[in-house]
Amino acid sequence: MVSESLPSESSESSESTPSKQPRTEPSSNAATDDGGSDEQLRIHITYLALENAAAHGGRTRDKNILGKILGTRRDLRGSIPRVSRIVADVVSQVNAMPADEQGSRLEAARREAGMPQAEPDADGPPSTDDAPGAWLPQLEGAQQGAVVTRFPPEPNGYPHIGHAKAAIINLDYAAKYGGRCILRIDDTNPDAERKEYLAGINVGLEWLGLEFKKEDVKYTSDDIEIMYEKGEKLITSGMAYVCTCKKDDISRNRRERTECKCCRKDDPDEHYKRWSKMHNAKFKAGDAVVRFRGDMQADNAVMRDPVLFRIISTPHYRQGTRYRVWPSYDMAVAVEDSIHGITHAFRSKEFETRAELIGAILGALGMRKPRQHYFSRLAFEGMPTSKRVIKPLMEDGRITGYDDPRIPTLGGLKRRGIRPEAVRKFIESLGMTKADTVAPFETLESINRSMIDAQSTRLFMTRNPRRLAILDDAGAQKQLEDRTDVQNHPLHKGMGKRMMPASGDVYIPGDDFDRLEEGSIVRLMGLAYVVITELPGRDAKGGYGVGGGGGGVTRHDLGRGTRSIPYDGGGSGKSGEEDVDAYARYVTGIDEPFGAGDILDYFEKKGIWMPPAKKRALQEETAAEAGGGGQEPAKKKKQETAEDARMQWVSKKDAVRIRLAIPKRPFDGEEFDEDSLEETEVYTEPHFENVEEGAEIQFVRFGYCRKDTGRRVIFTHG
Ligand SMILES: [Zn+2]
Repeated sequence: MVSESLPSESSESSESTPSKQPRTEPSSNAATDDGGSDEQLRIHITYLALENAAAHGGRTRDKNILGKILGTRRDLRGSIPRVSRIVADVVSQVNAMPADEQGSRLEAARREAGMPQAEPDADGPPSTDDAPGAWLPQLEGAQQGAVVTRFPPEPNGYPHIGHAKAAIINLDYAAKYGGRCILRIDDTNPDAERKEYLAGINVGLEWLGLEFKKEDVKYTSDDIEIMYEKGEKLITSGMAYVCTCKKDDISRNRRERTECKCCRKDDPDEHYKRWSKMHNAKFKAGDAVVRFRGDMQADNAVMRDPVLFRIISTPHYRQGTRYRVWPSYDMAVAVEDSIHGITHAFRSKEFETRAELIGAILGALGMRKPRQHYFSRLAFEGMPTSKRVIKPLMEDGRITGYDDPRIPTLGGLKRRGIRPEAVRKFIESLGMTKADTVAPFETLESINRSMIDAQSTRLFMTRNPRRLAILDDAGAQKQLEDRTDVQNHPLHKGMGKRMMPASGDVYIPGDDFDRLEEGSIVRLMGLAYVVITELPGRDAKGGYGVGGGGGGVTRHDLGRGTRSIPYDGGGSGKSGEEDVDAYARYVTGIDEPFGAGDILDYFEKKGIWMPPAKKRALQEETAAEAGGGGQEPAKKKKQETAEDARMQWVSKKDAVRIRLAIPKRPFDGEEFDEDSLEETEVYTEPHFENVEEGAEIQFVRFGYCRKDTGRRVIFTHG
């Protein structure tokens, strides 16, 4: 049978809501202004736009930047027109900058916007030069060298972002005042606790880089006999009694504020006898509990004769079957904090109603009372941390485990590619506020992005890949030379170079393919300019020509004679044997100057039909290039004017097929989203094989991903 357990914390605190839960103002360092001046806003937006452009091959979009700024600055949601105007202005400026200027301005913009610095080295120490705990407000009654705090996790589940917050606050306060912080494993519920969870806590702390001195690691279950001694004292002095009522009756009485009829009035000797029977197995689990003599009329439901001890016969993961009477959370915390010399006890806010009880227990025992402090619970919208939610999902196989990248356990965050330094910075950025706020996950992502960017190898990757054949003027497969000197990171030369095999038979991303028309000019990044001549893949999908198209595009002879030439697709067996989705003609190498005029010349020379609207646009562009002050040479690199003009590619015969997992918020309201982990197969460059497991990759024009295993990546963020 399931043994007696504590009334759940949440049901109790909701009972007491009318009298409790004062709204506390955010502390001053929470920095919430009302949107700030346009100038400040412009600085922030400029940083976001430069960063986004760097992550997307030099181009950014209004929509993306507006989403980013509104995602992190809820205060701006009332002034969207004003924000949109600034975004549009900044985005057009950033897109007009050459890539090297974007790069050189990013760092300055980052500093100006007060965003965290990129970490130079993954293994290096955190970049902060601040004194330990400088981010924390002063602590009342704190004496230098005499502050003792504690981080008390229960080994009943895997640690999550909330544990990280509690551990960092306690360690940092101890460090701030040159004191001690105790790691106290609160293990007094054998039903829920397991060795593997304890191991998980240690792994999580190590990942976060949080260390406790060996002599500061304690186990509550080691002090259980001290608890018994205190329990006896409470019973013999009449401050506690052994109640043998049924669990349901106890709950109802507490709810209805009525005293228990059977036992509260009996004398202490009788209760002491029952206490003995609890220990020597005369009572079974659920037959008897020790209750504190509180106040059944109290508005604070916690004070209505709460349980101090209960019988649990399940063997304990460390103590085995040596004990069968176990203290409740309140009893254990009160005694442990007092005997370990804790000066300042920090708890998350939902435990605030328990302070009165802890004070009352210590008062009844004549023991020293630590100061009680509270911080807000850390939660992400739609991303549960509660074991009550996570465990059933795991058991149903709806999430893959405690390190599922959709949940903010430390294991989940790590697998997703969130760095421990980012977790700390994020927690510091929230400050020591008691006001409950749902923290935007985007803020954590943004901090993380600035830390991983400099260490992320850039690779081309094609999602929903479509096959593109590049032909020469004779209609044969174009021979293209491998690129041997591609920078792994455009700004950080220390990241090295890689070889990028090239060929006239490549994969391109499906989204880009969908935007192609016959006659589209495509810049295959780092490879060539090509013109699309035929889209058999469009026909196959029935998507082409439906409704005639917007620009009056009709099917023309685009030199389609090439189609009849047998096409040697090559293929290494690594990738699939898909049909060709698009044919293109090679126009020129990527380093050649290539302007609107060149395109017109090329089409005319080759006798290729061009849609009239495109022709007009190119003619206008040519005129602008020729005008424009007269200083500029007539020939310059073509300015990209549309998203579909440039795309990444992967040589078909060298492509490596990998799985891409994209975690999303697992909950939308109460509802679990069955599609919250999207997995697809994609192609990437062979250099992927050289990237270490656990390292970050930035797939160009897609986003950051962490290499999870040999053939799988998990999307980190955009
Ligand atoms: Zn009773």
